[in-house]
Formats: sequence, structure tokens, C-alpha cells
Amino acid sequence: MQSKTKEFKKELPRHLDNDIMRRNIAKATWLSMQKREKVVTEIDDWEARREEAHLIKKDIVANLFDYLDQFEARAKQQGIVVHRAADAAEANKIAEQIARDHDVKSIVKSKSMLTEEIDFNKHMIGKGFEVIETDLGEYILQLADEPPSHLTGPAVHMSRVEIAKVFHEQLGIDYSEDPEHLTITARNLLRDKFLEADMGVTGANFAIIENGGVAVVENEGNARMCMTLPRIHVAIIGIERMIPRVEDLGLFLPLLCRSATGQKLTSFISMIDGPRKPNEYDGPESVHYILVDNGRSGFLEDEHMKEALHCIRCGACYNTCPVYQNIGGHAYGWVYQGPIGAVITPQLLGLEAAGSLPFASSLCGSCSEVCPVKIPLHHLLLYQRNRVVKAGLAPSMEKTAMNQFVRVGKSPKTMGRLGKAGRFFQRLLGKKAYVPGWSKSREFPEIAENSFRKWWRDNKNDED
Ligand code: SF4
Repeated sequence: MQSKTKEFKKELPRHLDNDIMRRNIAKATWLSMQKREKVVTEIDDWEARREEAHLIKKDIVANLFDYLDQFEARAKQQGIVVHRAADAAEANKIAEQIARDHDVKSIVKSKSMLTEEIDFNKHMIGKGFEVIETDLGEYILQLADEPPSHLTGPAVHMSRVEIAKVFHEQLGIDYSEDPEHLTITARNLLRDKFLEADMGVTGANFAIIENGGVAVVENEGNARMCMTLPRIHVAIIGIERMIPRVEDLGLFLPLLCRSATGQKLTSFISMIDGPRKPNEYDGPESVHYILVDNGRSGFLEDEHMKEALHCIRCGACYNTCPVYQNIGGHAYGWVYQGPIGAVITPQLLGLEAAGSLPFASSLCGSCSEVCPVKIPLHHLLLYQRNRVVKAGLAPSMEKTAMNQFVRVGKSPKTMGRLGKAGRFFQRLLGKKAYVPGWSKSREFPEIAENSFRKWWRDNKNDED
């Protein structure tokens, strides 16, 4: 997916003016948070589980390449062909070669943010393969030629009317807004694609070191069909997706499902640990893993940013974020959005390209509160802001203002004088006081009669 993060600030008003998108996002995120709240409070030791998951991921990240070697060795023992890709271009090239070696013409694919990150569809379609998205939301977006706007609900920004129009225009069916009719239409079309496909492509929610297998979580059964129906299965896996043992799924699956969709567990949890055995009558003839780095190892060099690799892509931080709720996912300009996107995108694409994203936060900390693996997202947002400033990429006006503020703040006398002047002018202008940008959509609150400093002087003896 091509990045538009550089235009983040410029594009914001367009997203803020999109009332339909904002209504859809607000409704969906509110519902998700309600459902999450209900199922999370059912579990007494939720906090202890978050902590345990945090520690497991911490250990994985601290020894990432050792574990990756172990995972690869186990997978090979199971007859899986394992490839490693340093970047997006290499990952796509490997996938293309696998397809050519196996005489593949058509590919069915389940939802995977990593394949969005590496622009898998564009590459493969450009090389002459048919690639069909099979998750309903992703299928709608493929028809609409739009990128996803959420980790778990890719088409969450679209209304029923918009989806009906896309189906009518792209599939030539009679116009209908009936969700059941639209779903059945997609299902019938996708069934044929599944049966014709030579290759199925999935991501992996968890890569299990102990047995070299992967687990994929979903609600529609399409990922399971991608893994089992076609002759070839390719799992494209981020190198940070590992967990140690099969039994750790008992910890991670409820954390993921409850945080993501407010379900105790999703409808389908599929595990694969190798191609079809001689005594089995179904399953793929050949299974390939493509282990993708694409900038992830760069996180390891930074003590703070390492923690962002713990992410299990549940999307809860999106749902709870007041900024995401108002601007939607497309505003962020790339595949990862919301608080975790604002943290990792500047790392993956560079501060120059995505340095304004960490500033898209009120720093309320709600994202850190809901994160099932306890990533301190609001601290990482602040950390990324600091890096942007240190790299000299902050707007020069802002830099000058902050420098002045530091100078003034160091002198109680000047601070007192400025406070007095400020109160005088604010009283004069009332609620119409103007601060470029800030006061465009806000009014100044009533000003206090006296400053805090005066109050302190007058009352400090009472407090003693
Ligand atoms: S950062 Fe945490 S809350 Fe956000 S998507 Fe990742 S795991 Fe979920």
C-alpha cells in the first residue's frame, strides 16, 4: 500500500468533513468497546493475563532471531518450506517464484495486514496472477479499490448504501441494500473462486515455535478455506508473531479475541503444521512460510521501540482512541493506523515521511489501558514526538514558541508578568480570543479571577 503519511496534516480537514465516514466509525468503535468491556470484565485475572502475555512477548522480542531459527527448524521438520525475506520486494519476489514453480494462475487470500504492508496484491496482479480477497470486508474493498481502514474491520468506514453501490457497479447485480442478499452474493462468487484457486495465501496471528505451526483467527471460515482447499498454501508471517508453545494459545487467544471483537473466541481458529500427509485426504500438497522482516529488526536497536513488536494486532487501541474515532483510518495514510500505527509507522517509513503521526494523539492513555499485551502506547507516542523534535523535524514556529516558553518558565517573575498580561487581554477579548488553528473550533473558557500563584500566596498558611 502506497504511503500518504506525508500529507497527513494537509488531508485531515477532508476526513473531518466526511460525516458519513465519521458516523460509521463512531458507531462501530463504540459498539466494539461496549462488547469488549463486557467480556473483559468477566475475567477476574484479566490484568494478570495481560502481564503474563507482556512478559512472554518481551522474552520473544529479546531473543527474536534465536527463536526464529527454532521456529524455522521445527517447521522444516514438518515438511514446510521456509523462506526469509528482508523486505517487501523480496517477500513478493519469493511469493511470485513459488507461484511460478507450482504453475499457479489464481490465488485466494485471507485478511492480512502484512500483505497490505508489502503490497502483495499489486505485485502479484501486476505479474499476471488473479488475486481474490476472501474476507467479506476485504472483498468489498477490493471491489471498491480502497485500502482497509481498521485492523479487524477493514471496511468499517463504509455505509450500507456505499457497499450496495459498489456491488451494483462492480458486479452488475440489481441494486440492493439488504446485507443478507449482498453477503450471499459475495459468498456464491467466492465459493467458485475457492474451488478454482491453485494457491491460498494467509497471514498468521501466531507462529508457534514449539511445533513450527501457525494459528489463524477469523469469523468467516474463509481463511480456513485458503489454508486447506488450494494445492499450495503460503503463509506470509511477520518475524515478531511468535509465541513459545501451543498451550500459550490458551492465554493469547482470549486476549486477542476479547480485545478485538468482544467475542470470547472467534468462530474459526485454524492451525496448520505441515502439508497433507500420505494418509490424509485433504489439505495442501505444499506449504510455504515467508518470514518477513521489512524493518522489524530495526525496532530491536531501540530499547523503547522494541515494545511495539509485542503487538498482536487486535485493534482495541483504534477503537478507544478519540483521534481515530474522529478521523478514521484512511487519514493516517498507510496500513497501520490508530495509536499503534502512529507509533510504528514513523519507525517503518522514517520520521521524515510519518513524523506528524505521533502528534495525532490527546495522550489520554486509553490505548495503553486497553492493550492486551500492555504496550505503553502513550509513552511511545511521546517518545516518537521527542525523536521528531530531536531530528529537527518539528515546525520552526512551534520550536521557537517552545524555546520561548522554556525561557519564560524558568523565570517566576517574567511568568507572573506574562500571566497578568494574558489575563488582561483574555478578559478584553472574552471568548473570541484567537489562537491560529486552536480557536477555529473552540471557545476560550471563562478566565479565573486570580492566578493560581496569587491563590497560593494568599492560602498557603491555611494549608499548613
Ligand atoms: S497495540 Fe495493543 S491494543 Fe493496539 S492493536 Fe496492538 S495489541 Fe491491540
